[in-house]
Amino acid sequence: MIIDKLKKVNEKETVRVRNEKASDRMIGKWVKCDECKEIIYKEDLHDNLSVCPNCGKHFRLSARRRIKQIADEETFEEIGADILTKDPLNFEGYLKKVESLKEKTKIEEAVKCGTCEIEGQKVVLGVMDR
Ligand SMILES: [Zn+2]
Repeated sequence: MIIDKLKKVNEKETVRVRNEKASDRMIGKWVKCDECKEIIYKEDLHDNLSVCPNCGKHFRLSARRRIKQIADEETFEEIGADILTKDPLNFEGYLKKVESLKEKTKIEEAVKCGTCEIEGQKVVLGVMDR
C-alpha cells in the first residue's frame, strides 16, 4: 500500500539523519512553519513527508521530491522532457511570461511525467510542480 511505501521512505531517511554528526544538524538548513511558527530542521521536515511535525501543516513539495517519495528507488524514467512549451495561438506576451516563470522557478515544465514502479507495480505518473 502507498502509505507503507511512504512510511518506508520516512524510516530510511530518519536512520540517515540520525547517523549524521551533531554538527551537521547545527550547520544544516532550517525552515519556519508559517502556521505554528515552529523552527524545523529541514531534513526532519522531509523525513516527515513535508508535514510539520508540530501542527500538521502540509508544506509544498517539488515534483521531484514527490516522485522520490512514492516511486520505487531508481525506477522513475521521465518522458516528454524534450517537449517544450509553444504558443500556437500567439497569445500576447505568453512566451515572455513562460520564460519569466522558468527563470523564477528554475524548472522547465509545470508537470513532470514518466514511468516508474510503485511497490513493483508499473505505472505512468504525472506530478505537477509547485
Ligand atoms: Zn507547524
